[in-house]
Amino acid sequence: MSWHLNHWRFDSVLKHEAIPETIWQKLIHLHCLKGLNSEELKHLHELVLMFLHTKVINNAHGLEITDEMRATIAIQACLPILNLDLEYYDNWIEIIVYPGEFILDYDYVDNIGIVHRNHKIVSGETWFTGPIILSWQDIICTSEFNHRNIVIHEFAHTLDMLHEGANGCPPLHANMSASAWRNIFSRHYASFCRQTEAEQETVIDPYAAESPAEFFAVLSEVFFESPFTLKQHMPSIYEQLALFYRQDPFKRWINA
Ligand SMILES: [Zn+2]
Repeated sequence: MSWHLNHWRFDSVLKHEAIPETIWQKLIHLHCLKGLNSEELKHLHELVLMFLHTKVINNAHGLEITDEMRATIAIQACLPILNLDLEYYDNWIEIIVYPGEFILDYDYVDNIGIVHRNHKIVSGETWFTGPIILSWQDIICTSEFNHRNIVIHEFAHTLDMLHEGANGCPPLHANMSASAWRNIFSRHYASFCRQTEAEQETVIDPYAAESPAEFFAVLSEVFFESPFTLKQHMPSIYEQLALFYRQDPFKRWINA
């Protein structure tokens, strides 16, 4: 799409989409947005409007989705791409929101042709071409104390999947080193798995040991929800995520 067409479309969306001011003023106090300056908030607002215009948020199990719920999901989904681009979310359109945890029940064939049955209760799920499925109960449980943010978690998966599938390595920028990313993440992942296997207490959700993809998604949650924790316990991971997301939440928190 040409620059002019993009901007025409963007201006047109800004004229027709709106988030009630009372809702926006409430949402900008979300913990993960702490320290964003007025320019960043203005850009985030534009991204959120474009996001709501281009994505479809559907309900499941009779959940009534209000404007505030739509904006709550959009603002947290747009935070990771604040300094990237909405195009990172081009592969999918639909988000489905359940009232609470939901059951995933499907069969899949592995790379040697064996069929596996998957039956589990989850709070979120992401497919490469959509939908992104979220539990509303888990969205509102987001807190600075548990470092959890299910929206950031699932959208981090969508970014990860853009490069060679869900393997914990999103498409890196030209100023980043793929070998540095691989070395740092695999070293920390191996050490984290040893800790969880030994049933040692971990600062970060032990679910991160599930796979390199979950490690990346969980650490992305901590990066935005509790940057002090990540910078203190895994500074080299923090540095890689700051390069990828082109954000430094630790710095904006200490300046807030
Ligand atoms: Zn996950």
